[in-house]
Amino acid sequence: MKLTVQIQLLPDAKQAKALHATVERFNEACNWIAAECFARKEANQFNVRKFAYKEVRERFGLSSQMAQLAIKAVCDAYKRDKSIKPKFRTHAAIIYDQRTMSFKGPDRVSLLTLAGRELIPYVMGKYQAEQFTHVKGQADLVLRHDGKWFLLVTVDVPDAAPIPTTNFMGVDFGVVNLATTEDGDKLSGEKIDATRRHYGQRRKVLGRAAGAKRRAGRRPKNIRRATKRTKAKEARFRKHENHCIAKQIVATAKGTGRGIGLEDLEGIRDRVSARGGEQRNRLSGWAFFQLRTFVEYKAALAGVPVVAVDPRNTSRTCPECGHCEKANRKSQSEFECRACGHRSHADLVGARIIGSRARASVTAPKHAGPVPA
Ligand SMILES: [Zn+2]
Repeated sequence: MKLTVQIQLLPDAKQAKALHATVERFNEACNWIAAECFARKEANQFNVRKFAYKEVRERFGLSSQMAQLAIKAVCDAYKRDKSIKPKFRTHAAIIYDQRTMSFKGPDRVSLLTLAGRELIPYVMGKYQAEQFTHVKGQADLVLRHDGKWFLLVTVDVPDAAPIPTTNFMGVDFGVVNLATTEDGDKLSGEKIDATRRHYGQRRKVLGRAAGAKRRAGRRPKNIRRATKRTKAKEARFRKHENHCIAKQIVATAKGTGRGIGLEDLEGIRDRVSARGGEQRNRLSGWAFFQLRTFVEYKAALAGVPVVAVDPRNTSRTCPECGHCEKANRKSQSEFECRACGHRSHADLVGARIIGSRARASVTAPKHAGPVPA
C-alpha cells in the first residue's frame, strides 16, 4: 500500500532561501511550459520534452532532471483537461524524485536546488518513522502558508493483513461536508461547524480591523500577529477535525467489511494548478491532503484496503445511468442528470462514482489487497 508520510524540513536561513528560489523558478518554468503545451494542445511528455526541454534549461536555469520533472508536472496537470491551461501558483508544491532527493540517514535529506545540493535537517513523528523504511523515492516539496517547509514522501508499506473484500465505500471530500460517504453519511459534526464559523468570524473581524488601520495610514502590525495566531489555532483545530473524520470513515468501512475508495493523489496537484473545471466545493490542497493521509494510515493500521481512483468527472457523472455531462451539475451542491433525471447532492454523487470506480478497479478477487493507484 502506498502511503504518504509528512516530514518537516528545518532549513537554515540560507537553505530556506535556496528552496524558495527553486520552488519559484520551478513554477515559473511550469507556467511557461503550460502556455506552450496549451498553444500546441500537446500533453505527451515525450513530445513536450522535444520542444520544451532545451529552452526550459536555458531560460530558467533548471538542472536536467528538474526540467524533466517540470515537464512531467505540466503534462500530468494538462492531460486531465485540455480545455484548461494549467496554472501553477508561485509557491505551489514541486516534485522531487530519487535523482533530485536523497535521504542521508534518519535526520537529513539532500535536495537539489538552484544553488546545488543542500543537506537539510528534518523531523518527523513516531508513526512516520515506522513507515519510513519503505521510501519509494518520490516526494512533493511543500511550502505551507505559515512559512514551514514539508516533504510529502511516498512510501510503500507492506499490507498489514488487510480484511479480504472486493467491496469498497466511496468517499468524497468537500468543504461544506468535509467528507461524504456513498452511504450518504455527511461527516461534519455540529460542534465542528460551530467552531469553523467561530474562526471564520474571527478572521473577518481581524480583516476589517486591519483594513481600517491601513486606511488610517497605520500599519496593522499587532492585528497581523493576531491573525497569524488565529490561523495557527485554526490549523490545529482542523487537524483534530480531520483525525476525527478519518477515524469515523475507517470505522464505518471496517464495520461493514468494505475497503475505502478515494480520489487519487494527482487530484491534489490539480487542485493547486488548475482553475475552474471540476472545482466543486473543494477542500484546499493542504486540507485535502491531510484528511486523505489520515484516512490512509488509519486504514492501513486497521487492515482496511484503500483504493485510489481517477478523480476526473466524479461530480458530472450520473451514478444511476452513467451519463457524463457538465450540465448534470446544476450548482455547487445540486446534481440533476440530463439523461435520466436522477437528482441528488453533488457530494453524494461524487462519493458514489468514486465507490463504483474503486469496485471496478478490483478485477481479480482472489487476493483482495489494495490495487496500486
Ligand atoms: Zn442519469
